[in-house]
Amino acid sequence: MDIGHAALVVIDMQNGFVNRHSRHAVAAVTDLVTRWSASGLPVVFTRYFNHPGSPYEQFFGWHRLQGPPETDIVAELTDHAADAYRVLDKPGYTFLTAEAAALVRAAGWTDLVFCGVATESCVLKSAADAFEQGYTPWIITDACASDAGPAVHDAGLLVARRLVGEGQLITADLVTRHLDAHDRATVPDRNDPSRRTDTDTDLIVIGGGPAGCAAARMAASVGMRSVLVEQDTLCHTLRRIRVLANVLGGHTSGPDLADALTTDLRNTDLCRIELGCRVTEIRAGDDHVTVTLDTGSPLTAPYAILATGVGPLQPREAPWITAPPDLAPPPLWQVEPGETEGRTLLVLGGDRPVGTFLRAHPTTATRLLVAYPQDDDYKVEEIQQDPRVTLLPVDHLTLHPRGAAHTAETVGRDGTRKTLTADAVFLSIGSAPTTPPGDLVRDTAGYCPPSHQHPRVLIAGDLRSARYQRIMTAMGSGGEAALHAYYAAREMLGTD
Ligand SMILES: Cc1cc2nc3c(=O)[nH]c(=O)nc-3n(C[C@H](O)[C@H](O)[C@H](O)COP(=O)(O)OP(=O)(O)OC[C@H]3O[C@@H](n4cnc5c(N)ncnc54)[C@H](O)[C@@H]3O)c2cc1C
Repeated sequence: MDIGHAALVVIDMQNGFVNRHSRHAVAAVTDLVTRWSASGLPVVFTRYFNHPGSPYEQFFGWHRLQGPPETDIVAELTDHAADAYRVLDKPGYTFLTAEAAALVRAAGWTDLVFCGVATESCVLKSAADAFEQGYTPWIITDACASDAGPAVHDAGLLVARRLVGEGQLITADLVTRHLDAHDRATVPDRNDPSRRTDTDTDLIVIGGGPAGCAAARMAASVGMRSVLVEQDTLCHTLRRIRVLANVLGGHTSGPDLADALTTDLRNTDLCRIELGCRVTEIRAGDDHVTVTLDTGSPLTAPYAILATGVGPLQPREAPWITAPPDLAPPPLWQVEPGETEGRTLLVLGGDRPVGTFLRAHPTTATRLLVAYPQDDDYKVEEIQQDPRVTLLPVDHLTLHPRGAAHTAETVGRDGTRKTLTADAVFLSIGSAPTTPPGDLVRDTAGYCPPSHQHPRVLIAGDLRSARYQRIMTAMGSGGEAALHAYYAAREMLGTD
């Protein structure tokens, strides 16, 4: 459970639904809400209203829950409802009305944790809708009940297991353990000398690829709190790798591995994940590092791990290309299957993704015009026999985007000029390190050698060097960087 991005949703704890069958849930829900609120996390209450002419009237002949006192929240929870993040009224089973969906989106919650009544109707339907709308639903089985009795409650849980997954049904005890871990991660223990109280967290991890995820996971394993900042989604680079042949653990596709790493990290209690945030600056001082986010907010920690990887080089960065400054064609490895079928692509550069593309689409009728500089001569050897490829060794290329078709003027190595026309342009120029501005030492190619950095800034993954750009090396270096921060902090406190 990503408890830092979770909301507790208390379904319909109203007088009209509490009877001899469901009364026991009142105490369980009250305990849960009390514990959840004490961690400063959001609670949403729902209230059901059976409006005149409703389907419940029409199809069941059921006329209850049309006004107070039946529609009132039970007395034990009235104060909690008054303090709740929101009380939402609904005319049907689901919590996820348009109003609720907008609220969840705006709040950025990823996990919706359901309790209340009735298990087989409003709780079940809300969890299933959350599942379908891309959220992670959780049902607290011992804080739910059915006003129709225990057999119906059990039937609701049986169907819930089938609809949202066995693992999404948990007990209040497990939630309490998540909350305890969350509290440890966010509330510094002032009696513990290893906890700093003047920084936001113990470790900032920048970049949510394999290196960053491994760093945060390792940090948590030694009790360090971390904040992981990722501008996109976790492990999105891996999602483009169809076939993996060099990763341990039985993972043979990038998306599978990305899913596994993402799930692991979301279940890492000591790590707070900030998605959709870009780091715009990193500054290192004597006793802490300050990282600025694109929202303008600063984050501080004794150590930061920079694992921002590499990104595709753009035409404006290649001296052999002249192109409009705002032109940023996509890298060839991002092409989706079918997107380019039967089309002619102008590929800028002869870097390895061309071979990867041809191997990944062995039957595609796509034609590739590969224009490449002298530096790439040795790289195109693996593709020169492929009949779908036309190799164009060039001295210079000028790109003119014109409507749907793209034209380019090339000057060959022998001075011959040509005009090329293609349906689309893709990049295969190579990649370059991606780093935010700030206190970093870069080599001539822009990489950040780990041993040259400020002692509070640790580098992991592809950003270290062009030589080690592999998933397993990225993960190893991320874990190692986190342990480095851990031991350095202990040495500084004299605990080693
Ligand atoms: C097409 C392709 C095929 C590949 N195939 C393989 C393979 O088969 N086997 C293999 O071992 N490796 C393969 N790799 C290499 C592998 O993907 C990388 O080595 C690995 O992803 C590196 O991990 P990383 O965490 O260092 O960087 P990345 O995975 O690139 O992650 C860096 C993260 O940092 C984020 N970021 C960047 N700047 C900022 C910022 N300012 N603020 C916040 N976040 C930021 C990015 O959004 C990104 O998510 C392949 C790579 C590509 C592109």
